[in-house]
Amino acid sequence: MHPFLAILCGFFLAQLATIATTTYLHRGSTHRAVTFHPVVEFFFQLLLWLTTGINRQEWCDVHLYHHTYTDKPGDPHSPILEGLWHVQLGNLFYYRRATRDPLVKGYAKHIKLSWAERTIFRNNLLGLFIGTALLCNVVGFVPSLIIAGSHALLYLFFLNNLINGWCHIRGYKNYPNTPAFNNRLIALITGGEGLHNNHHENPGCANLHRKQPAGKFAEIDPGFLLIKLLCSLNLAKITRA
Ligand SMILES: [Zn+2]
Ligand SMILES: [Zn+2]
Repeated sequence: MHPFLAILCGFFLAQLATIATTTYLHRGSTHRAVTFHPVVEFFFQLLLWLTTGINRQEWCDVHLYHHTYTDKPGDPHSPILEGLWHVQLGNLFYYRRATRDPLVKGYAKHIKLSWAERTIFRNNLLGLFIGTALLCNVVGFVPSLIIAGSHALLYLFFLNNLINGWCHIRGYKNYPNTPAFNNRLIALITGGEGLHNNHHENPGCANLHRKQPAGKFAEIDPGFLLIKLLCSLNLAKITRA
């Protein structure tokens, strides 16, 4: 496989993980704006286990804590408090630090891990190992390292960081008195998460885009398009839109 094609595959993998993060972890699990069919939930859990090693309870704890203390002392990853480039480049460090904080641990009390998460998906590193081994089997050792490496770099050091870092400092606001900013371009590559000012205004809303006045570019929310598709197949249900 050509190295450039392998990097493209890494980008595709990072997009898959990002879409699962925004639809399932964020809008579904954390904010309960949408519920998914158990088969879809299992697929999302499997995908996240193989590609990110994220523990759903920890992710929801840290994110809800961020909503409670947005850009105030206590916020696990505020670029206003820590500096833009610290969060932009060190988001993973801030996330890991928050997961060890006793005040954050178990903060999302409504989360109930599934049987699969408590048993098969319990070991996060095993998921990443199996995911990489499967990739090796399909495309070979070197291409799989390039794919896994570019995916990890994009997911851990670029895409998530744009939301927690850049979108809290730069962009435009639909809601001037609400924290964070919107960025249409970032929204396109983060499953809609770049519309972060809209999200902070109404965190329980499954839809992150807002209607724009005539003459302005539309806000596109790819994650919500997937949710609508799953709803049309009776595989998801929007609680709040
Ligand atoms: Zn935020
Ligand atoms: Zn949120």
